[in-house]
Amino acid sequence: MNSTAVNRPPRVRFAPSPTGRLHIGGARTALFNWAFARRHGGAFVLRIEDTDFERSTREFERAILDGLAWLGIRWDEGPDVGGPHAPYRQSERLARHVELAGNLRSKGLAYACFCSSERLEALREQQARDKSRQAYDRTCALLSSEQVQARHAAGEKSVLRFKVPSGSTTIQDRVRGEVHFEHADVDDWVMLRSDGLPTYNFVVVCDDIDMRITHVIRGEEHLINTPKQVLLYTALGGTPPEFAHLPLMLGTDGKKLSKRTGDTSLEDYQSQGYPPAAVANFLCLQGWALDGSREIFTLEQLVANFALEDVSKGGAIFDLDKFRWLAGEYVRQETVPELAKHCAPHVIAAGLASASELEQRHAWFEQVVACERERIHTYAELPGRIAWLFCTDQDLAFDAKALEAARKHAQAPQTLREYATWLTATLASSPSKDELRTAMKAWVAARGLKLPALFQPLRLAITGQAGGLDLVDAMELLGHEQSLARIELGARRLAG
Ligand code: GLU
Repeated sequence: MNSTAVNRPPRVRFAPSPTGRLHIGGARTALFNWAFARRHGGAFVLRIEDTDFERSTREFERAILDGLAWLGIRWDEGPDVGGPHAPYRQSERLARHVELAGNLRSKGLAYACFCSSERLEALREQQARDKSRQAYDRTCALLSSEQVQARHAAGEKSVLRFKVPSGSTTIQDRVRGEVHFEHADVDDWVMLRSDGLPTYNFVVVCDDIDMRITHVIRGEEHLINTPKQVLLYTALGGTPPEFAHLPLMLGTDGKKLSKRTGDTSLEDYQSQGYPPAAVANFLCLQGWALDGSREIFTLEQLVANFALEDVSKGGAIFDLDKFRWLAGEYVRQETVPELAKHCAPHVIAAGLASASELEQRHAWFEQVVACERERIHTYAELPGRIAWLFCTDQDLAFDAKALEAARKHAQAPQTLREYATWLTATLASSPSKDELRTAMKAWVAARGLKLPALFQPLRLAITGQAGGLDLVDAMELLGHEQSLARIELGARRLAG
């Protein structure tokens, strides 16, 4: 049996840089890598690419790990769980990177370059003027090893450049198909900077080789790096892995995803109370589909069906409305107790109640959640919709539109007062909610009024809003005594 990348269990990696919060594009890359590994019984490696010392922090690293775990992804090897190719933080592998750079240099596959930034700048300007290829002109490639040694001995600083061989290469990208490039279009790029630190393109290949990565699945923005990396694989004596470049995620305006078309960090959706399974599901739809019809599916279904060949080449449109709709579908799949548990932190964070207050009114809070369940899309939407239940009667704010609608009914204050009298009498016989609904309608009809003549001012008085949950439910949740107090207050405010 041969041991090509196709036949051995794949080893894939997600390699985030902890220089910021986890981007949703990164989260999708992680999901697809994870699904691919799980589908084929392979390993999913988490490697932290923290070589940008100034911008990388352990806090961002922690947040990335937490974000992935929140989505339901587990990794087989990584900085926190270890593994056979530890360490999994790039910064801890520096000695190995420098060693490999030294090997390339001694084989003549890389060379020291002493050109100053002024010279390189002048070269770039000259090439721009001549409209010629923008690339290093290989001046230092001609230096003999004695010359290099002498200049180093004299204290001159150098970078290490990769010596791009002549020729051309074609790779089969598992998503994009054939990708061809001429080596002449690849610059002799810098592997080690003058401070001795390696660059991204260099370390990524060193680590992928050392970690036995078989498939590199990553965003299309890295396609530009692939030629450099493929050539380096060969120079280091490794076999290039298979590549799969995932389509860019675009906003509904067709442009790169930005704050304008939707938040870009996973944490934003976490704090906006999107159910994690909905986020994972939606991210999977960014460039992949289970089949032509089912949009809602589990991670198990993703794993059972995922194939790189099914990932689309074209940009995936990140449609926030659809995302919200999908989140709502997940919200409705939850039982009321589950949903109440998930919504509670948002209600507390919004300052409506403390944890112990919610705990004390647990059954009541579940009733509230049950009433709003059909209307919310995310957990965090709940507090805004139920704030009227938590404020004092005096503090109840009237929505401007709701107030305008109620004011259209000239007799509203009087109708409200008469209704309060009737309600007090009617409640004495403890009607069911349905009986009360029917009786209310009959009461309005008997007075020769249309339903909005009571319902609009009443809703305003009870909730301050123009729409929302059923009014009888609303009054029951608020309590009938407090409802009557609000009706009187509402009548006064409308009369004033
Ligand atoms: N560290 C790179 C990034 O965060 C990923 C590199 C790769 O996947 O090759 O974009």
